[in-house]
Amino acid sequence: MSEPPQDSKDPGRLRPSGGYRKLRAFQTTSVIYDATTFFCEKFIRSHKLADQLIGAARSGRQNIGEGSRASAVSAESEVKLVQVARSSQDELLLDYEDFLRQKKHRQWHKNDPEAMEVRNIAKRPGNAPLEYADYAKWLDHEDPAQRANCLICLIHQANYLLDRLLLRLEQDIIKGGGYREQLTAARLAERDRQAGRPVVPAADTPNCPKCNKAMRLRTAKQGGNAGSQFWGCSGYPECKGTRKYQAGASDRPDRPDQADQADPTQVT
Ligand SMILES: [Zn+2]
Repeated sequence: MSEPPQDSKDPGRLRPSGGYRKLRAFQTTSVIYDATTFFCEKFIRSHKLADQLIGAARSGRQNIGEGSRASAVSAESEVKLVQVARSSQDELLLDYEDFLRQKKHRQWHKNDPEAMEVRNIAKRPGNAPLEYADYAKWLDHEDPAQRANCLICLIHQANYLLDRLLLRLEQDIIKGGGYREQLTAARLAERDRQAGRPVVPAADTPNCPKCNKAMRLRTAKQGGNAGSQFWGCSGYPECKGTRKYQAGASDRPDRPDQADQADPTQVT
């Protein structure tokens, strides 16, 4: 098996990937990572704590990039990496809140003018990338409380963006499956074609009711239904899940919503 094609415009590509540098979540976590490094150099004396903060900030950023690259292979691994990024940001958030509380600094309320000013930077029109310089007014401030508060705002923004990204990825998985899953379905269809069996498009192949793997059209060899077709799990013989097959009827018995879209409000 050769590597998946690198060009996202390649028609052979099953799942597009990459482009993470354009993601707002990646840009925001990059600013957080840089600012955390400078913050620790200047204000954190404990090497252990500094390592923790910088490590969490770095993990947030790196896992978004890695997740995006992994998306070419599997939507599931992308979700896992983005979840790691999300929990690293949470860890960092707690550390900055601890810092403010322990040093008796005031934490901005989310409706404070300073917090709103930080938030509004990301709302500017156009798609210009977010950069450290956009927040330098706070992030280079002599007062550590200004820096920590700005960072807390940025972490909240990153978390919001990561939650939205996760939601979208999860919907992608439900709709299309990951690259690996699509590849399995394509391979099974090719095997059917070579064996002269009817080929059902991958999108019309249902998933197993027991294990959720792709199913294959099979022909009953014995019993009262001998000769008739049914859906069998591609994981057979480990999994014996089956579904009824009716030629011409809904090809996706596991997705009845696609089969019958009649509008119930239409009375004829
Ligand atoms: Zn199964």
